[in-house]
Amino acid sequence: MQAEIETLLIVQDRDQKISGCSKQLAHIPDDEADAKRRLQGDEKALVECKAEIQANEIEMKNLELDIDTRKESVARLKVQQFETKKNEEFRAMGVEIERYGDEVAALEDRELEFMEIGEQLKKKLAGATAALAATQVLVDEELADLESRTENLNKELADLEKERSEIATGLDEDIVEVFDRLMKNKNGVAVVALKEGQCSGCHVRVISATVVEAKAEKGLTHCENCGRIVYFAN
Ligand SMILES: [Zn+2]
Repeated sequence: MQAEIETLLIVQDRDQKISGCSKQLAHIPDDEADAKRRLQGDEKALVECKAEIQANEIEMKNLELDIDTRKESVARLKVQQFETKKNEEFRAMGVEIERYGDEVAALEDRELEFMEIGEQLKKKLAGATAALAATQVLVDEELADLESRTENLNKELADLEKERSEIATGLDEDIVEVFDRLMKNKNGVAVVALKEGQCSGCHVRVISATVVEAKAEKGLTHCENCGRIVYFAN
């Protein structure tokens, strides 16, 4: 095989690896965003749970105020009842006191229900907090992995680029120019084998003159169909 072809094949290999590293690096921000998105569900559940607890506390507070108001009314009525000398008024106040008493009992029953809900919500909050913490651990691990992957890929990329440029300095500028153009336009494959008269790049059978030219190994031979550099393999 021609020395130039051998060198070009190595450059092509490094270029393909450089392209692979670059693609992986380009994908990392998406992977990071995906990882962070995984926290959103747990964060939302926690926020919702806290809102439920707050709403429940407000309900309880309102109930307590209602209970206090009625208790004050009962106390006031009891004083008035004690002071009155009219039997009818005394009885009417007695009815009122009883009514308020019943209301207070009903409100206290409801308060107990809300307290029970409060207990359940406390457990729910603990669960949601633990779930978020567990997800956070996983996400942190994933982000750390992505960070070290970025570091490794950047290092690999720098090594490959250095190596590539060192190897390419041994080539003619014109050849490098043709090769670079082909790499860009031919999907990252510029140099291919010519096997049994067929170009391995486009899989088209080349004319016999091309086979003869490649076999002679004088200068670069191109596939007349796809334009890639071909070398005689068998
Ligand atoms: Zn071809």
